[in-house]
Amino acid sequence: MSNENMALTAVIYSAAEPSSEQKARFGQFLKKKYGADIPLQWDKSDAFPGGFRLEVGSDIYDWSVGGRFRQLRDTLVKVPTNNGNIIPLLKESISTWTPEAMAEQVGEVLTVGDGIATVGGLQHATFGEILLFADGVRGMVQDIRRDEIGCVLFSADESVTQGSSVKRTGKTAGTPVGEGFLGRVVDSLGSPVDGLGEIKASGYMPVEAQAPPIIDRQPVDTPLETGIFSIDSMFPIGRGQRELIIGDRQTGKTAIAVDAIINQKGKNCICIYVAIGQKTSSVVQIQQTLKKHGAMDYSIIVTASASDPAPLQYIAPYAGCAMGEYFMRQGKDVLIVYDDLSKHAVAYRALSLLLDRSPGREAYPGDVFYLHSRLLERAARLSDEIGGGSITALPIVETQAGDVSAYIPTNIISITDGQIFLESDLFFSGQRPAVNVGLSVSRVGGDAQTKAMKKAAGTLRIDLAQYREMEVFTQFASDLDDQTRSQLEYGQGLMRMLRQKQYRPKSQHEQVITLVMALAHTMQGIDADEVPAFIEGLVELFETEHADVCERIDTIGKLDDDLKKEILDISAKYREKYKAA
Ligand code: ATP
Ligand code: MG
Repeated sequence: MSNENMALTAVIYSAAEPSSEQKARFGQFLKKKYGADIPLQWDKSDAFPGGFRLEVGSDIYDWSVGGRFRQLRDTLVKVPTNNGNIIPLLKESISTWTPEAMAEQVGEVLTVGDGIATVGGLQHATFGEILLFADGVRGMVQDIRRDEIGCVLFSADESVTQGSSVKRTGKTAGTPVGEGFLGRVVDSLGSPVDGLGEIKASGYMPVEAQAPPIIDRQPVDTPLETGIFSIDSMFPIGRGQRELIIGDRQTGKTAIAVDAIINQKGKNCICIYVAIGQKTSSVVQIQQTLKKHGAMDYSIIVTASASDPAPLQYIAPYAGCAMGEYFMRQGKDVLIVYDDLSKHAVAYRALSLLLDRSPGREAYPGDVFYLHSRLLERAARLSDEIGGGSITALPIVETQAGDVSAYIPTNIISITDGQIFLESDLFFSGQRPAVNVGLSVSRVGGDAQTKAMKKAAGTLRIDLAQYREMEVFTQFASDLDDQTRSQLEYGQGLMRMLRQKQYRPKSQHEQVITLVMALAHTMQGIDADEVPAFIEGLVELFETEHADVCERIDTIGKLDDDLKKEILDISAKYREKYKAA
C-alpha cells in the first residue's frame, strides 16, 4: 500500500443510500482499482438522479444519468460520417455501447490572482501539462509543490474563481503548425489574430522540444545573406547560426531583422518573426512593411504583445521555434527573429516571482540562463541524412546605456555565435545601420561567406579599426600632414559607404563591386557627401553595361584576379568621367 493511497477516501453521492450489497461491490471495485481497502462514505445528493457519482481523491467516476449520456455522446461523435448511410453504424454503436467506469481527474482552484492559479487535488499533474479551467480557460503547470500546483493562465482570469473545478488534459503545451501559417499573424498558441479566418494546420508540435543532438548536425557553411552591407561583409551569418542583435533602445535593432527578412525573397528561406512584449501597433506596422515588400508570403508573425498575459509572452518564442522546426524537419531553411529576449526575460521574471520562486541576480530567477539556452540551442543546421534543413536565429536584446555586461546581455552573448552591436552615438551621428565594428563579431559565419565576398572584404575591418584610432587622436589637431589627412579621408569614405537606407537590401554583386573599388582607394578625392551618389552610379554602370560581371559574382561566387582587375579598370574609368563631369 503506497503512502498516497493511505490518505485516500471514497465518497458516493446519490439520492438514495446504496444497499449494503451495493456498498460491498463498490469496495471490491476500489480494491481492484487502487489495490487497497479504501474507507467508503455516502453523502446524500439530489444532483445525480438515477445514478451516483464516486469520488476517490481527485478521481471522479460519473455514473449518473448525465455522465452516462456524456459517454454515449463521446462514442457517437467518433462514428465515421464519410460513409453514405450512417444509421446502421449508429445502431451498432448504440447496441454495443456499455457505460464504463472512467476516471476523470478533477481538482479545485484554491487561490487565483495575477494570472496564476494554485490548484489542489491534482496529485498526478506533470510539469508543463495543460489544465482546463471553467469556461475553457487554459493554463500550464509551472510549479509542483507537496499538496498544490502552481498554474499560469493563458487568458484573463475573471472566469476562474476560488472553488471552481480544474481538469487535467494529459497534454503539454503545443502549437498547430504547417504551410497554412505562412503569411499569417498568430498568437503564442497558434490562433490567428489577423482577422483573416481560420488556419488549416498540417500538424501539432510541442512548444518545448529537445534541441537536435550533435550527431544530427553539420557545420554551418551556407551563407544567409542579410543584404545589409556592413553585416554581410564583416559579420557574415550562416544558415544554422545564432547571431545576437544587441543595442540600446531605438538604435535600429528591429530594422536590421526586418531588412534581413525582406532580403530572403526568392532565396528559399522561410522567416518567422516573434514579437514579445511589443506594442500591437508596432507589430501591425511590421506586418504591413513585410507585406509591402512581398515578404509576408514566406513569413509568419507570432505575437504576444505587451498587453497579453506574461505566460503567453513566455511561451511565444518556443511556439515560434516549434513552427520553424516543422519546416526544418522537411529540409527547409528557416530564419527566426526573437524581438526581443530582454522583454521575454522580464515576463519570465514576473511569472517566477508570482510563483514565489526566490529571486537571484537582478531579481531574475536562477534558471533564466536555461530559459534562453534551451531556446537558442534549437537553432541548428541538420545533417544531410536527416534532410539538411536549418534554423538560423537572430535574437534581439536591448541594453541600458550600452551596458553589455548586465545579466541578460552577458547570458545571451555567451549562448550565441556572435553579436551585432548597435551604438546610439553612431546612430545619432547618422551612421545607420549603427554597427559598432570593434565590438561586433561573427564566430562561425566566415566559413559561410562566399569566396568572392571574403576576398573582396579583405582588409575592411582592419582599415576601419585604424581609422577609428586615428580619428580619436587627431580630433583636436589643427594641422595634419598629407598622409594622415588622406588616411582620414579614406576612412570617412568607407564609413559613408557602409551607410544604408532601410528596406534597401544590397545584392552580392553590388557589395563585392563596391568593396573591390573602395578598398583600392578609388574614392580618394571624392567628397564624403558625394560617396553615396558615386557608388550608386558605379553599380548602375555595372548592372547596365557589364551585366556579365554581376552575374559571375552572383552565380559562381568567386573573385579571381582577372575579375578583380576588370572591376578595378571599369571603376577607374568611371571615376575619371565622374571627376570630369
Ligand atoms: P526599440 O528599442 O524601440 O525596439 P529598435 O532598436 O528596434 O527600437 P528600430 O525601431 O528598428 O529600433 O529603429 C528606430 C528608428 O530608426 C526607426 O524609426 C527606423 O525607421 C529608424 N532606422 C532604423 N534603421 C535605419 C536606417 N538604416 N536608416 C534610416 N533610419 C533607420
Ligand atoms: Mg525594436
